[in-house]
Amino acid sequence: MLFDTHAHLNDTQYNEDLEEVIERAENEGVTNMVIVGFDRPTIQRAMELVENYDFMYACVGWHPVDAIDMTDEDLTWIEELAAHPKVVALGEMGLDYHWDKSPKDIQQEVFRRQIRLAKKVKLPIVIHNREATADIVEILKEEGAEEVGGIMHCFSGSPEVAKECVKMNFYISLGGPVTFKNAKKPKEVAAEIPLEKLLIETDCPYLAPHPYRGKRNEPGYVKLVAEQIAEIKGLTLEEVAEATTQNAKKLFGIK
Ligand SMILES: [Zn+2]
Repeated sequence: MLFDTHAHLNDTQYNEDLEEVIERAENEGVTNMVIVGFDRPTIQRAMELVENYDFMYACVGWHPVDAIDMTDEDLTWIEELAAHPKVVALGEMGLDYHWDKSPKDIQQEVFRRQIRLAKKVKLPIVIHNREATADIVEILKEEGAEEVGGIMHCFSGSPEVAKECVKMNFYISLGGPVTFKNAKKPKEVAAEIPLEKLLIETDCPYLAPHPYRGKRNEPGYVKLVAEQIAEIKGLTLEEVAEATTQNAKKLFGIK
């Protein structure tokens, strides 16, 4: 059993061959996945998918890159969707200082509003962080995000920051980069963070693991992430698969 905690099968890149992608994931042992929607079209599509597939759950929120586009109606819509039984988290939300489409102050405000909403609807949050670690940690602390906890998605920071996030009730999710030969920090994080606090993900269609780096990613490849963590920790694939699946189910409240 493998749980891909962050997949964008709602991306148009899967329009042609979604069924084959799902079949390959099942053949690799993927038993659950969370489909992440982060703007109007991708949230809509994520909800369609979770209505159609038992083993898919949804995470809905507003991406920091597009923070400037979020309206009050969008946030109300996300709040309504949060009541849906298959919506298990809010996000991805956070800060992205790599792209400058949305000014930092607007990103921070949209991030704070979503954390407050998550506390209101009592759902964990999924954090997107790009070049903004210090501000993310500060806002999570100021807003009391520990109350709902959540996931540091595709974590690329240091083991020290990972430990700080674990203290704030967050899981550390590792994706394709942990398999890259030159990825020093994700491998250190895999070694130092206890298995009880780790999750696995693909972030597909992005960040395909070795040996698919640069190609379109898909949920079946999450097995490569689990294998890499198992190798680093000196465990079996089954041990990592079992533990990360139980961690995800506990966080998302899935039986
Ligand atoms: Zn994502």
